[in-house]
Amino acid sequence: MRARQLREQGADVVSLTAGEPDFPTPMHVKMAAIRAIEENFTHYTSNAGIPELLKAIQQKFEKDNNLKFDTKQLLVSCGAKHSIYNVLQAICNKGDEVVIAAPFWVSYPEMVRLVDAKPVIVSADAESRYKITPQQLRKAINQHTKAFIFNSPNNPTGAVYSQGEIEELAEVIQETGIFVIADEIYEKLVYDKAKHFSIGSIKEIAEQVVTVNGVSKAYAMTGWRIGFLGASKSIVDGAAKVQSQVTSNASSISQRAATAALCGPQQEIADMVTEFQRRRDFICDRLAKVPGLDVNRPQGAFYMFLPVKNFVNKRIKNTVMKDDMDICRFFLDEELLAMVPGGAFGAKDHIRLSYACSMKDLEKSAKRLQSGFKKLQEGW
Ligand code: PLP
Repeated sequence: MRARQLREQGADVVSLTAGEPDFPTPMHVKMAAIRAIEENFTHYTSNAGIPELLKAIQQKFEKDNNLKFDTKQLLVSCGAKHSIYNVLQAICNKGDEVVIAAPFWVSYPEMVRLVDAKPVIVSADAESRYKITPQQLRKAINQHTKAFIFNSPNNPTGAVYSQGEIEELAEVIQETGIFVIADEIYEKLVYDKAKHFSIGSIKEIAEQVVTVNGVSKAYAMTGWRIGFLGASKSIVDGAAKVQSQVTSNASSISQRAATAALCGPQQEIADMVTEFQRRRDFICDRLAKVPGLDVNRPQGAFYMFLPVKNFVNKRIKNTVMKDDMDICRFFLDEELLAMVPGGAFGAKDHIRLSYACSMKDLEKSAKRLQSGFKKLQEGW
């Protein structure tokens, strides 16, 4: 709101808050939607999704993730967010606990609370490269635990768990028998040598895992609202029942578009990843030169999560920077740069910036970040 106010007053505010790719949806996807409208494909579809999209998802899961599902084990929803909520609603009862690794995507704890369950937060920090250990997970699980929400690549840290790290977590999952909700929405956005690995492909726990994905991030389709999940038949049936009473099917037109996205050429994803990596390297290299800032080069998604502990309690214009919120406010007021305080993601003393913005804005931001941190470091 403050950023918008400043903009309305004519200030040149740069925003690094975007949670979506700044690329257009591929043309062949848009054409598929236009064709759907022209053909009057504009009515209800079956609740779980149109057959050609279900088939495309089945093939995608098998090819990319080594996950084998019957099409009856798939459910198309209005975004991955909707998929996760449907599952939580289907599996959780009052008093159940759901383990969430922090830093987390802001919606997880709120969705858990909405279904009358209790979020149990397990925190990872910069030292562990923002990944939780199997010991931490084991400690958080008790007889009330229903599920663990697992997000790799991660929003907000960009952490990507390796296959080995995931196999260790899977041992705990097998031993305790809880469900895993694997949110793999950033799957395609990985850099350097990082590889995405699907926890559901581990045979011993396959029945316990709900794999959630969608077209929002990979195909720059956030507005089309298509997400999907694959899971054991009983979970899918439960989630589908919730969906059938609340929203019914996802948009018929968007389902046609999503089919074209999954089945069509994939080159635009590769181009987008190359561009995100270039931007990530640019902003990381610039921030690495800032005294007092430990830069952790993210391996996936399009966010950087900066630890700002060294700048807390610094005094600026007679005001003490009490926390990440104050630091974000300082950057907005003094440097005209909008970012998100880490507290929102369950990690105080951090700020999240998104490099899903133009190179021009990123260049401006780098200058403003350097200038702002210098002022904070030296007192101003
Ligand atoms: N999961 C994570 C980790 C996200 O960051 C987001 C969006 O920011 C979503 C899910 C939501 O995806 P969708 O647009 O498919 O609902």
